[in-house]
Formats: sequence, structure tokens, C-alpha cells
Amino acid sequence: MSVFVCVECGKPLTEDVLALPEMPQRPHHTGEHGNYRATATVPRGRYAIDPEPFGAPFVPSSEDMPCYRGGSLYMYDENDHDVCLRSDGPRDTYVLHPQDANLVSIWHRGSCHGMSHFPEGWNKACACGAVVGEEISECYTHYELHLDPAKVRRRD
Ligand SMILES: [Zn+2]
Repeated sequence: MSVFVCVECGKPLTEDVLALPEMPQRPHHTGEHGNYRATATVPRGRYAIDPEPFGAPFVPSSEDMPCYRGGSLYMYDENDHDVCLRSDGPRDTYVLHPQDANLVSIWHRGSCHGMSHFPEGWNKACACGAVVGEEISECYTHYELHLDPAKVRRRD
């Protein structure tokens, strides 16, 4: 069992979680039919390591590809223009069920059903103010919490 703590202040940020052997297959997103949140990629009490880049910063992409695995193809830039961006964020983020962490939400902009990813930056902070992760829980995203490996420490 492990707990993730804030590098800045040492405060525990998560419940006790157990490692999964690999990043699970992302559940088929069921945003339609009135179900506005996908099934969580990682079950409660577990965590996985995502080898792909995740979250901000984003860089423009001319390729027709998702911004990151599980992310949407298009994002709004700071001028609210619809652009294709890809993640140039950290690799090997820790992925948890969002309900297994106790973090402060930073809302960059309004979202209708949950939190989304925006070029402005990550959206979850420790109580001390350090930005440590990002939750995606909007109707068109998967349902995941990613912790930045540079901002948290795993305590076994
Ligand atoms: Zn902290």
C-alpha cells in the first residue's frame, strides 16, 4: 500500500492505494444516453502509471490525433479558438480514481458536468497551494485523476 504526499509540504493527498501492473484499458466512454461521466479508468484503492504525456503544457499539433490518450482531439486555446493541441506534459503520471484523493479544485473555466483539461494548466492542488495534479471528469473525457510525479512523492 502507498500514499501519495505533497513534495512541497509533506501532507498526504490520497487514500492508501495499491499499484496496478499496468495502465488499464480505458473504458468505452458512455457520455451519451444521459450518462455524463465515464466509468473511472482506475478502480478505487488502486493506482497506475501512465507512460504517455499528460496534461499541460500543450503544443500545437497538425496531426489528427488526440491531445493525449483519453483526451479530446480539439481544445480551446487562450483566445477560445478551437485548435488541435497535443500534450507535452509529464510522462509517468500516477493515475487514480478521483475519489481516492483529497485535493482543492482550480476551475480554469466553467464546465458543465465536471472538470476538463485546459492549456492554462493543471486543476488540482494540495491545501498548501501547490498544484499537484489534474482531474478529468467532463462529459466528453475519461474519468481520471493524474498526479504529477515531480509534485508528489509516493510513501510506501
Ligand atoms: Zn502541500
